[in-house]
Amino acid sequence: MDNLKIDRNGFWNRISKELESAVSSQTYATWFEPLRAVNIEEETVTVEVPSRFYYEWIDSHYGSLIQEKIKSVHGLDMQIRYTVVVGEMDGKTLNKVKKIRKTEENAEEKQYDRGSKLNKRYTFDSFIEGGSNQLAKAAARAVADSPGQTSFNPLLVYGGVGLGKTHLLQAIGNCVIKNRSECRAHYTTSEKFTLDFISAIQNNRTSIFSKRHRNLDLLLVDDIQFLQKKEQTQEQFFHTFNELYQQGRQIVLTTDRHPRELYGLKDRLVSRFQSGLIVDIHEPDLETRIAILQSKAERDRLDIPSEILEFIATNIRGNIREMEGALIKLLAFSSLSHSDVTMSLAQRALRETLGSTGLYRITIDDIISGVSRMTKVSEKQLTGRGRKMEVALARQMAMYLCREMVGASLENVGLHFGGRDHTTVIHACRTIKSKMEKDRAFAEQVKGLQAQMGG
Ligand code: ADP
Ligand code: MG
Repeated sequence: MDNLKIDRNGFWNRISKELESAVSSQTYATWFEPLRAVNIEEETVTVEVPSRFYYEWIDSHYGSLIQEKIKSVHGLDMQIRYTVVVGEMDGKTLNKVKKIRKTEENAEEKQYDRGSKLNKRYTFDSFIEGGSNQLAKAAARAVADSPGQTSFNPLLVYGGVGLGKTHLLQAIGNCVIKNRSECRAHYTTSEKFTLDFISAIQNNRTSIFSKRHRNLDLLLVDDIQFLQKKEQTQEQFFHTFNELYQQGRQIVLTTDRHPRELYGLKDRLVSRFQSGLIVDIHEPDLETRIAILQSKAERDRLDIPSEILEFIATNIRGNIREMEGALIKLLAFSSLSHSDVTMSLAQRALRETLGSTGLYRITIDDIISGVSRMTKVSEKQLTGRGRKMEVALARQMAMYLCREMVGASLENVGLHFGGRDHTTVIHACRTIKSKMEKDRAFAEQVKGLQAQMGG
C-alpha cells in the first residue's frame, strides 16, 4: 500500500481511463473528469468532488461502478469516501460531509491556500462582468491590487442571494495570495467567526483567537448579517476590526442588505462598516446571465448549444446559483437517459427547477410568429383563408401548438386564426396528432418547432 500512497495520481489515472471507456464521453466529462483522489488508505479512497450535488449523484449512480473498476485494475476492495471542495456547502451538506472523514489536503494546494480557507475556483477571471456587478468588481480588483492602501477600507459588497458576493470576496483573497507571498489572508463567514469565537471562550483560548485575527493583512468576512443579535461576537469583531483598520490592513465584508438595514447590529459597528466603500451587486441582465452560463460550460468543457443556454438564462432571472443548478440538472438528465442535451430535455430540467408555472409563458401571437418564421409561411397567410396545402398544414400546426403550449380554448384559437369555428380547430389538432403518429419525421419537425419556441 505504500506505493499507493506515493502514487495517488497514478492510481486514480488508471481508474479514470477505465471509467472513460465505460461510459459515454459526455457522462465522463460531466461526472468523472472533475474528480480527484485526494487520499488513499488501506481500504479507502477519498475522492474530491466539486459540490454536494456531485457527491450525491456519483454516489448513487456510479459508486459501484467505481468500486468495480478499482477491483479490476488494482485488485482491491475499497470503500469510497467523498469530500466536497470547501466553500460551497449549505448546512445539510455540512452535516453530511462532517460524517465523511476529514481528508489530508493535497500538498500543492496547501501551499496555495496557505490556511486561508479560500476556494481557488473563485477568481476574477471566472467572474463575468456586467452592468449589475461592474462597480463591485472594479472595487474588488482595486483592493486586491493594493490591499489596505486604497480608501476602500473596509470594502463592503452587498446584494441578494446567489449574485456572486462570495465569489468576488474569495477572488480578492485568491488574487492577493497569488501575487503577494508575504500576505496573510483569511476568509471566514460571520457564522464561522462566531463559532470559532465561542469555542475559543470554551477552551480559554480567546487571546490566541484574537491574536490570530489581528495578525492578518487581509480579512474577508462573508455574510455579516449573521452577526445580528450576537452581542459578544460583535464586540470581539469590533476590536478585531479596529486593530486591523488602524494598522492599515484590508477588510472586505459582504452582506445581503445595505448596512443601514442591518437591525440588531450595534450602531458603532454599522458606522464602521460604512466608513469605507459600499457597493452593491444587483440582478444580472440577460446578456450577462448567458455569458455566465457560457463560461461555466466552457470551464467544464461541456458542449451545450447556445440556444439552450439562452433558454435557461431567459427563464431563471434572479439567481445565478439557481441557474447553475438548472444546468447541472440538465446534464444529469442527459447523462441518465444517455441522450444528447436537447431543448426538450432543457425544458424538463427547468420545469423541475421552477415548476411548470415558472416557465416563460408564451402567447398565441408568439406561436403565430414563431411558426411563420420557421415554415416561411407569412403570418398573414397563417391567419388568412388560403387553402394551399403547405399553408393549411402550417396553420394546423400553429393551431395545434396553441392548444399544446398555451392551453388556449378552442374558441380563442379559432378567433386568432381568422375567426374560424371551434370545430375547425378540433379538426386541425386531430389531423396533426394523427400525422405525427404515422410520420416520425413530421413528428420530429413539430416537436422541434415547439422546442425552439421554448414550450
Ligand atoms: P452569493 O454569495 O452572493 O450568494 P455566490 O458568490 O455564492 O453568491 O454565487 C453563486 C454562484 O454563482 C457561484 O457558483 C458563483 O461562481 C456564480 N456567479 C455569481 N456571479 C457570477 C459572475 N458574475 N460570473 C460567474 N459566476 C458567477
Ligand atoms: Mg455567499
